[in-house]
Amino acid sequence: MVTHNLGYPRVGSKRELKWASEQFWAGKISKDELLWAGRQVRRQNWQTQQEAGIQWIPSNDFSYYDQVLDTALMVGAVPERYQSLIDGKSNRELEIYFAMARGIQQNGLDIRAMEMTKWFDTNYHFIVPEFLKNQQFKRYSDKVIHDFEDAKQMGILTKPVLLGPVSFLLLGKEKEAGFHRIDLLERLLPVYADVLRELATRGTTWVQIDEPCLTLDLSENEQIAFQQAYEYLARAVPQLSLLVATYFESIQPNLALTLQLPVAALHVDLVRGNEQLEVILADTSFVTSQRILSLGVVDGRNVWKNDFTQSLTFIQRAVDVLGKDRVWIAPSCSLLHVPYDLDLEKNEAVLTPEIKNWMAFAKQKLGEVVTLGRLSKGEAQGLLLENQVALESRRTSLLIHKTAVKTRVQAVQTDDFERDSAFAVRQQIQGESLPLPLFPTTTIGSFPQTDEVRQWRAKYKKGEVTKADYETFVEAEIERSIRWQEEVGLDVLVHGEFERNDMVEYFGEQLTGYVFTQNGWVQSYGSRCVKPPIIYGDVERPEAMTVRWTTFAQSKTEKYMKGMLTGPVTILQWSFVRDDQPRKDTAFQIALAIRDEVQELEQAGIRIIQIDEPAIREGLPLRRADWAAYLTWAVDAFRLSASGVADQTQIHTHMCYSEFNDIMEAIARMDADVITIETSRSQMELLEAFSDFQYPNEIGPGVYDIHSPRVPSVEEMAHLLEKALRTIPARNLWVNPDCGLKTRRWAETDQALRNMVAAARQLQQTI
Ligand code: GLN
Ligand code: ZN
Repeated sequence: MVTHNLGYPRVGSKRELKWASEQFWAGKISKDELLWAGRQVRRQNWQTQQEAGIQWIPSNDFSYYDQVLDTALMVGAVPERYQSLIDGKSNRELEIYFAMARGIQQNGLDIRAMEMTKWFDTNYHFIVPEFLKNQQFKRYSDKVIHDFEDAKQMGILTKPVLLGPVSFLLLGKEKEAGFHRIDLLERLLPVYADVLRELATRGTTWVQIDEPCLTLDLSENEQIAFQQAYEYLARAVPQLSLLVATYFESIQPNLALTLQLPVAALHVDLVRGNEQLEVILADTSFVTSQRILSLGVVDGRNVWKNDFTQSLTFIQRAVDVLGKDRVWIAPSCSLLHVPYDLDLEKNEAVLTPEIKNWMAFAKQKLGEVVTLGRLSKGEAQGLLLENQVALESRRTSLLIHKTAVKTRVQAVQTDDFERDSAFAVRQQIQGESLPLPLFPTTTIGSFPQTDEVRQWRAKYKKGEVTKADYETFVEAEIERSIRWQEEVGLDVLVHGEFERNDMVEYFGEQLTGYVFTQNGWVQSYGSRCVKPPIIYGDVERPEAMTVRWTTFAQSKTEKYMKGMLTGPVTILQWSFVRDDQPRKDTAFQIALAIRDEVQELEQAGIRIIQIDEPAIREGLPLRRADWAAYLTWAVDAFRLSASGVADQTQIHTHMCYSEFNDIMEAIARMDADVITIETSRSQMELLEAFSDFQYPNEIGPGVYDIHSPRVPSVEEMAHLLEKALRTIPARNLWVNPDCGLKTRRWAETDQALRNMVAAARQLQQTI
């Protein structure tokens, strides 16, 4: 049985490409050195895949920044503002490429970067292609050809990967009115055909064309576009075998269309949508065709060992219907979304052998694909047994399964999701028990994290400073920030989050059921990587997590000190999660842990508690039809965490994204007493969403964009507040920046917050 891979992580197992890119951008290494580093990573990846025994290894899955940007460059979709960088004589492709990704400010040039957005429901961000009405395409970058040739030199005939023409258009954006980007297809296809033809003349036989948009809800025009595109390409390059790859969801909304595309092979994701297998196998026209079905059985989105027994059932079913020559085995999607190599995790104190034995990272997943191929031929039965033993140990391990936690989740009652009184009553009560001025000022939680703060935390982690010394340092930082907040004149203070490196990791480290890796990096965008914590077991809070710091901070001021927690959905969303129970169950376990923390803060005298949920929107399923179910449990999880307190205690939440219209109902149902939100992109749009919905609770629409070092003036912020007052009742309006300040510097933070407080005071005068 043929095995293949859709894509491999590409920053290097030691993040070699990250370091090289950053040095190149800083002017510390030459272009040749960067290209060399990239080539090493690429070659290492090919070698790893070859050694693992993968038959069709991808090329052009490597990227110096992003594969969508690569595609834009391949077809010459370079926006006008970068054209001045093209000079006829020298090859400036890489400079243009990075300018598109990151903007450029040098030698009197100041050209802004292209927009970036999330790749489907992953935490990977791609560069959004820009299109004009009279957009022209022409072959520009030959990276795909070079990569193919590079591997060929190593003796590997690869399967080049291209982002498909329809998904490429759909993922982009129209930069002017009067057309839909899908209308550009006709102009785009000849460029794809040209590239494919050249690949064919150089010896390519299989090409993988990624069309993840085939799993989304498509309009009729978009469906027609898919048909046209593949009819065109089939005619243009009959000598090539095309494999269309879909992933992240099933193809069911576009089943007939997808099954009829005139291509040699179709890849489907059986991890996210295993029910599609039977549907496909029941389609007579597909079954009676010669088409190959590639089964994505190994999870490319998570870190757990594959269940061989289950995968073999899928493979067997497909072989029974299609015959073994028409079934390929693969990961569900590119392995870009998982860390490189579990073998790099050598610290057994951090990742115990028992837990490690349940996991597989990219390299191990290659092994799984190959093993599945062998098992389905009746070979290597010992590996099946080994796999079953590992999975059985996971199913029953006491490290994972905690009866008390499961029972508690089951025992949750309707009441547990409800505050004692409705918001209107709470507002009344809080208005009396928590005297605050009109337009209270506050911040979102974190303050600038100086090098000194980071160094202390790192040293403490490594055991280089004592706990006592570390805590004295953090206390001093907190106290200093309190004196400063008082001087600036803020009404509700925060402790500053100096003890936290990350808003999820900090909590994960204190909860059971979590493990951390040392090298489990996953690309987030460009050279930026994240190391998501891993939830492997039932989550419990052995002891208080934040009470010590919050009460210390409260003891240093007469003003209200806001407790600061991360909400259950965000903790879930930014971790690798269990695949042995629904996400909802894990979210509820975390919610109960946060609920306990909230209650303990309340008992310790903290009157205002913020539960951050910046990631609620990110968790939205890819298809609309699935939104309601997700939002129901996500909002329930938040409510469960927030509803254990008395009416007097004020619950805040914070969110950072700019589109609210389509989830206003869910936001309102969270029923936080106060919500603070990011508005940096469009304050007006946000306010409209809240006023159209007649959002009843208190709200702090950010008046200061923390993503930029720019210090807004008093007038500017006062003006925004006046605007807000047109739609928000005065007693409901809070004044705050639009997100945490940890990435800013003190100098600009100080000035900006003084201006913000002045703007709030100015507004109080006018009322
Ligand atoms: N409380 C967090 C902070 O201030 C919130 C961060 C976020 O919204 N992403 O950093
Ligand atoms: Zn935020």
